[in-house]
Amino acid sequence: MAVKRIFITVEGIVQGVGFRPFVYNLATKLSLNGWVNNNSQGVYIDLEGEEHFIKTFLEKLKNDPPPLARIENIFYTEKEILNYTCFSIKKSEITSDKITLISPDIATCRDCLSDIHDPLNRRYRYPFTNCTNCGPRFSIIKSIPYDRDKTTMKKFQMCKPCEIEYTDPSNRRFHAQPNACSHCGPHIWITDSKGNKIATTDPIAYAEEKLKEGHIFAIKGLCGFHLACDAKNKNAIDKLRTRKNRPFKPFAVMAKDINIIKKYCYVNAIEEKLLTGIRKPIVLLNRKESYSLPESLAPNQNTLGVMLPYTPLHNLIFGDNTELLVMTSANIYGLPLEYKNEFALSNLSKIADYFLLHDRDIYIPVDDSVVRVVNNKESMIRRARGYTPDPVLYKDISPILACGPNMKNTFALGKENFIFLSQHNGDLENLETYEHYKRNIQHFKDIFSFSPEALVCDMHPLYSSTKYAEECSLPIIKVQHHHAHIVSCMVENKVKDQVIGIAYDGTGYGTDGKIWGSEFLICDEKNFKRVAHLRYLPLPGGESAIHAPWKIGAGYAYVALKDEGTEVIKNLYGNSSSVIVEMIKRNINCIDTCSMGRLFDSVSSIICVCNKATYEGQGSIELEALISRNVKFDKSAVYDYNINLKNDVLEIDPIPTIKQIIEDKFNYFSKEKMSIKFHNTIICFTLEVCEIIRKKTKINKIALSGGVFQNYYLLKNLCNELEKTGFEVYTHSQFPSNDGGVALGQIVIGDNLFKERKIKK
Ligand code: ZN
Ligand code: ZN
Ligand code: FE
Repeated sequence: MAVKRIFITVEGIVQGVGFRPFVYNLATKLSLNGWVNNNSQGVYIDLEGEEHFIKTFLEKLKNDPPPLARIENIFYTEKEILNYTCFSIKKSEITSDKITLISPDIATCRDCLSDIHDPLNRRYRYPFTNCTNCGPRFSIIKSIPYDRDKTTMKKFQMCKPCEIEYTDPSNRRFHAQPNACSHCGPHIWITDSKGNKIATTDPIAYAEEKLKEGHIFAIKGLCGFHLACDAKNKNAIDKLRTRKNRPFKPFAVMAKDINIIKKYCYVNAIEEKLLTGIRKPIVLLNRKESYSLPESLAPNQNTLGVMLPYTPLHNLIFGDNTELLVMTSANIYGLPLEYKNEFALSNLSKIADYFLLHDRDIYIPVDDSVVRVVNNKESMIRRARGYTPDPVLYKDISPILACGPNMKNTFALGKENFIFLSQHNGDLENLETYEHYKRNIQHFKDIFSFSPEALVCDMHPLYSSTKYAEECSLPIIKVQHHHAHIVSCMVENKVKDQVIGIAYDGTGYGTDGKIWGSEFLICDEKNFKRVAHLRYLPLPGGESAIHAPWKIGAGYAYVALKDEGTEVIKNLYGNSSSVIVEMIKRNINCIDTCSMGRLFDSVSSIICVCNKATYEGQGSIELEALISRNVKFDKSAVYDYNINLKNDVLEIDPIPTIKQIIEDKFNYFSKEKMSIKFHNTIICFTLEVCEIIRKKTKINKIALSGGVFQNYYLLKNLCNELEKTGFEVYTHSQFPSNDGGVALGQIVIGDNLFKERKIKK
C-alpha cells in the first residue's frame, strides 16, 4: 500500500471539545504520523501514513467526532511526504483577540458513570468525577484561556495519579481541567436548615434516607442549587409548595433512569435521545393514562417535565429506594438561581430542612434547560445548561451586543463568525435579576474578549434591558420585538429571503406605542411591514392584567356583549366585574392590545379554567392542557371570526369568537370542547390570512415565532395545515419561540442596520 500525506482543515465548533486528543488517539491507533493543532478558525491536521488508514481516519473524523464537536467543513489537500516519525499535539495558536470557544456544562458520560459504580475504581462513589467528555465547563470558568488556574478548580491541587491522567494524551482525562478525585478534589457535606454541619460518614446515604422521610433538601448541583423532595410524597410536595410560595407552577422531576420515566410518561425515540444524551435537559413529556403521581406535582397539566441525573452526585443520590425526586430551581420567587453556599444557606433556610453542599464553587449560575418534542423535532423552551454558550455560526457578524427583552431575558453578542446567546437570565423585574444580568454580560465580555461597538435593544422605553443599553454610551439600534422574534426563527433555519412572519406572543411594544402580539409581518433580516393582526381590544389596568385573566375576560366579554351583557358578565365574574366594565366604558386606565396571549387569557377565564395567574402563561397553558392527547384537528369545529381590511392592514376580529364561547359556556358545553374549538379557530383564521397574503405578495415561506407557539396543539396543527396548502413553514428548534430567543433576532437585525449605517457614513 502506498504512503500518502494530506493536510486537513476542520472548520466548525472544534475547540474546547477534546478534539485534539481525539485526533491524536485516532491517528496513533491507525499508525499515522504528523501533528494536530488548532486556532479559533479550526483544527489543522498534518497526516502521513498508509493510504487506507488515512481513508479510515477521514471517515471516522466525519462520522464519529467527539460528542461536543460540530463540524461544518472538512477540507484536505495532498502534500509531499515528509517522513514524520510520530504523531504529536502542537501547541494551539491562540492570539489574544481571537475567540476561544467554551464548552457548555455536560452531563456525566458513561465511562465516568462506570468509574463511580465500580468498587475497585479509585473514583468509586466520588461525586465530582469527570473527564474530557463530561463535567463542568462554562459554569466554573472565570476567565480565559481555559486552564485550571482560571476556573474555580484552582484551589484544588491535583494529586499524582490525577496529574498523570491529565498529562497523558491517551487518557480520557487528558487536559480535563476539572479533573479530580476524592484525595485532591472537592467534597460534599450536609447541614441542617441553620447551617450546622451534620456528622455522617456517608452524606449521600443520609440525604437519600431523609428525602425518603419527606424532608426537603437544597442540593448544590452542577451550576446552581435545586430544591428536592420525594416526588411520590404528596405531603412533601405540598410542604415545598407552601414554603416556596408556588401554588401551581409545575415542578420538574429527576428520575433514576429511563425505565422509571416510561412508567409514567410516553417517551418516543427523539425524547429518549434528549433525555439520555449529553445535555440532559428537562423534557416535557405526555403523561400516560395510568399516570399516578400526586396531582400537586404539576397541577392542571397533561405533561410532566422530567430529566435524568446529570452529575455523579445526582446519580449516587438515587440509591435502591429512590425512583423520582422533585428537582426545582432553588430560588426565591422572581429572584435569580442560588449558586453560592453562604447565600443559599441564608436565603433558603425557611424552605429547606437540609442542605447538601460542596466546595466546588460555581462561578456563573446556569438553570436547567427545558425542551419539548413537537412534530418529531426538538423544540427549545428554556435554553441554558448543556447548551450555553454553544454559538450560532453567522458570517461576519458585527461586534455588537443585543440586550434582549425584559421577560425570560437572554442577551447575545456577535464576534467574528459567531453569535453567542447567553443562558436564561429570568425576568429583569427587580434589582437582583438586573444585577445578575449585568454581571453575566460582563462575564461574556471577559470570556470572549469582547467589546461592543454598538448596542441593540427593544423599542420598549421602560425595559431594564433598554435602560442598560442607554447607560452604555454607545450607538443604539432599536428593534421591534416581534420582528426580532421572526428573525430569530429565520436565523436558526438559515432563511434569508422575505417571509411571512407570524408572531403570536404575549406582549411586545409596537411602533404605534400599543401592545402588539399577533403580528403578521412581511420581513427579512433588516426590515418589516406589518400586514395583519388581531383587532385591538382594551386591557383594563394595563399590563398588570396579565396576573388577573378574569379582568381581561370581563373586558373582552363587555366588548362582545356591550351593555346588554352586564348581567351575564356579573354571572361570570361576580359584582367586582362592574368596576372593569366601567373602566372600559369610560376608557379609564385601559391600554389597547392585539396580543394573542391576552386572547388566550380571556378565553381561559371565560371558560373558567384560570382566573388568577400565579405564573406567566398559566391561563394559556391550562387551557391547552384540557385537550386530550389524541384529538385530531377538525376544521368544522370552529367559532366565528371576521377578517376586515383597514388601511391596507388585515384585522382579525375575535369578538364573534368570544360571543360564541360565552354562549357555549352557558349551554354547559364541556371545557375541553370549547378549548378545542377555540384553538381550531386560531388555526383557521391564521390559514385564511396567510392565503390572502400569499395571493398578494407571492411569498410562500412562513416563519412562526412568539411565546404562544409553545402551545403544542396550536403549533403542531397549524404547521400541518399550512404545509398541506403548500406553504414552506419554518419553526424553532434550538432556540426558544418565547422571549428567550428574541436576542438572537435582535443581534442579526442590529447587524444589518449597523452595517447600513456604516455604509451611509
Ligand atoms: Zn466522563
Ligand atoms: Zn486526585
Ligand atoms: Fe415576545
